[in-house]
Amino acid sequence: MKRDKKILIILLSIFCILAVVGTTLHFTKDFFFPEKEVETPKTESQILEEKGIILVNKESFVQEANSLLEKGYTADEINNIYEYMSEKNIQSILANEYVDLSQFYQISNFDFSKIDRYKAYQALESIEMKDAVTRVNLNLDEPFYQTIETIEDPSAVTVLVNKSHALSSDYVPDDLVAIPSFPSLQIKDDAVNDFENLLAAAKLDNVYIIPYSTYRSYDYQNRLYNGYLQDDPVEVVDTYSARPGHSEHQTGLALDVRSSTHWSNLTDADYEWMLNNSYKYGFIVRYPKDNSTITGYKEEPWHLRYIGIEHATKVHELGITYDEYYDLYLTEH
Ligand SMILES: [Zn+2]
Repeated sequence: MKRDKKILIILLSIFCILAVVGTTLHFTKDFFFPEKEVETPKTESQILEEKGIILVNKESFVQEANSLLEKGYTADEINNIYEYMSEKNIQSILANEYVDLSQFYQISNFDFSKIDRYKAYQALESIEMKDAVTRVNLNLDEPFYQTIETIEDPSAVTVLVNKSHALSSDYVPDDLVAIPSFPSLQIKDDAVNDFENLLAAAKLDNVYIIPYSTYRSYDYQNRLYNGYLQDDPVEVVDTYSARPGHSEHQTGLALDVRSSTHWSNLTDADYEWMLNNSYKYGFIVRYPKDNSTITGYKEEPWHLRYIGIEHATKVHELGITYDEYYDLYLTEH
């Protein structure tokens, strides 16, 4: 018994010593080597924010911003890109090497894929960059009829038909109707009521308007254009007649009108009335003076184009051609 007690005391003593030593060692270690507070690593978004980049709510933003930083874009440039550029442009910017975009942030119809053409045309013409952008978008840095884009929706009231936007030879509007007060002439159904309203309003102001050429088929335009070529060289004909497929008359939305006292044109007074009032009924004078470098046609007081009251009013207020309006306000870039 005595011996067992001794062993027990020894064992207890060893345990106590170990406990004391262990505790002492533990505190000593904490004293000399305090455990560091565990820092949570910074997120990639936080790193970008610290660089001055404004975060954008877009799944791939962190990856895109880092890619732009690698290409050499500054935080300010990246912020401008995401504030002003379309998604299509952002993807093009990401797919290319660094380009100084400072001239283009504020230009809503900027298209990255044409940046070299913009710069070249702006330098050549000494015009403002925003004008160079619109004109290049309309392919005006090239000779007329060089680049031809096919029109996707020829039946749209807002359709753009010009020397670089063509209708197919078999396009015929499916909603042509006779103009009630001139039943031998057809236009698109969308335009007919507003045209009658225009005639009535003009009459109240003692302006007597007579339409004489409205819808024209591709074949008719082809004969007309080739007929003109019998009399004039092509570069002259092109200033007053559209090549087949490029005439607004094929859409059923264009009308040539005359004064009752004139065989094919408007008198000055009637033209004045038209310039000041036609927009109220959805029509614009499509080829105004001093715009032949944009429209490709000399002034045509007689040629009206229906685009609807809302757009006609805006075109009138802005005082720009429909080609420019279409690029600026009706085209996604
Ligand atoms: Zn015409």
